[in-house]
Amino acid sequence: MTNFSVVKGNIVNMKVDAIVNAANTSLLGGDGVDGAIHRAAGAELLSCCRRIGGCKTGDAVITPGFKLDAKYIIHTVGPVWNNGLTNEAELLRQCYIKSLDLAVEYNCKTVAFPSISTGAYRFPLAKAAEIAINTILEYLEQDTCLEEVSMVCFDFNTKAAYDKVMRALGRLEDEE
Ligand code: ADP
Repeated sequence: MTNFSVVKGNIVNMKVDAIVNAANTSLLGGDGVDGAIHRAAGAELLSCCRRIGGCKTGDAVITPGFKLDAKYIIHTVGPVWNNGLTNEAELLRQCYIKSLDLAVEYNCKTVAFPSISTGAYRFPLAKAAEIAINTILEYLEQDTCLEEVSMVCFDFNTKAAYDKVMRALGRLEDEE
């Protein structure tokens, strides 16, 4: 059984086998969590991403973690919210699935996710939290090498939205 938890923190400091980056299609860095990961991992990450050449929305690629504690960085490209008109929910689901597929392929035991698409890409937070948690939990029903998957929320609002979904699923006591 894989443990799943929602925590508050900065994903660059996570001591896990793989952290997931909410990247953009160029893979060349950006604002938000992407910028924080590139700064912390160092310039070698940018060269490595440049060699990969890009990533489609809803897909994921893997690189070493370079200067991070994490061994790997899984870069996934979330959908930009477009009022639900361009398959955003399914693309977001695919981000979590493809990232977990790569983590399993690389034999990771511990993986940390940020809240994909809910920053600059404006995916409505409550809906994104529901998709993220349900997709991860459904994936973890399979028997894999994964031991611990965490959702790392950078701010209070994000943590509250993910906690709300966990509470609705009976996975979180009331006053935590
Ligand atoms: P996107 O472009 O996919 O929306 P953002 O980086 O703009 O990605 O935002 C996604 C989420 O990541 C937001 O909840 C944002 O607060 C959060 N975030 C920003 N920096 C960090 C960090 N260092 N660790 C974890 N989450 C972060």
